[in-house]
Amino acid sequence: MRAMVLRRLGERLAMEERPDPAPGPGQIRIRIEACGVCRTDLHVVDGELPNPKLPIVPGHEIVGRVEAAGEGVDLKLGARVGAAWLAHADGTCAYCRSDRENLCDHPLFTGYTRDGGYATHAIAEAAFVFPLSDDLDPVAAAPLLCAGLIGWRSLKMAGDGRTIGIYGFGAAAHIIAQVCRWQGRRVFAFTKSGDAAGQAFARSLGAEWAGGSEEQPPEPLDAAILFAPVGALVPGALAAVRKGGRVVCGGIHMSDIPSFPYRLLWEERSVSSVANLTRQDGREFLALAAQAGVRATTKPYPLDRANEALADLRGGRLEGAAVLAP
Ligand SMILES: [Zn+2]
Ligand SMILES: [Zn+2]
Repeated sequence: MRAMVLRRLGERLAMEERPDPAPGPGQIRIRIEACGVCRTDLHVVDGELPNPKLPIVPGHEIVGRVEAAGEGVDLKLGARVGAAWLAHADGTCAYCRSDRENLCDHPLFTGYTRDGGYATHAIAEAAFVFPLSDDLDPVAAAPLLCAGLIGWRSLKMAGDGRTIGIYGFGAAAHIIAQVCRWQGRRVFAFTKSGDAAGQAFARSLGAEWAGGSEEQPPEPLDAAILFAPVGALVPGALAAVRKGGRVVCGGIHMSDIPSFPYRLLWEERSVSSVANLTRQDGREFLALAAQAGVRATTKPYPLDRANEALADLRGGRLEGAAVLAP
């Protein structure tokens, strides 16, 4: 197999040839068709997340085919599956036993503490992959597995309000905006100030208003979701939501949140974070995405250009999501 490997934090990824990995009991080897590039991969590469496995193959939006199966796996060889961020949960801790495996005390994460999908092949646990249809375009489906899933969990945490603000209009936002519209909600998009292209992209996906992230929306919002990893946006988002409004931080890492007057939180506004995902989130969202006809806008890159894909994401040069195809 070939893999793009991060050997030391902050370095460029390097292509490596490795022997094809053999699946252990309960595991499968996936022949990868596509793997999305997520902002979390930048946080891994930059060393912003604690205790990554090193060297590590990043990537946690994997679409591929079951190529080999270990003992006790009842997935068919050749079946298409998706592997996402949550690679393993222990099933025994207090969180797992209360349907909160996203908060598991002993988890493994794809592309962070277990090798991921910037490769031709990857090992995954059969119990943690999602069956995917043969009809899907693997490149278009890949971003659903994190941008879509985490976006969905964020939207659920935002509650059932009708007016939703989305800060940072990247991969997750462009998927969740479509879900919001399909649900009959109204979308207000916030981008970097002056990002006319990003604002036009948001409007093309059904946002009824798009403006700079320091602007106030034309009316108070029921909830706001922050996908931009910028803590300084939190006070403005609190100011943009109505009484009882929720502000949900959808990213795994954010710059510091500056102090702000208590009156912004007053009147039962709340700020919360979203951590990881449960398999139930995945099943719900993948079914809903098919029903709603969610279409991801993607830019494909060959596997050996993973560094370029990461650089384009970092530089804000993408509309939608970058996807590696080996
Ligand atoms: Zn657990
Ligand atoms: Zn992700």
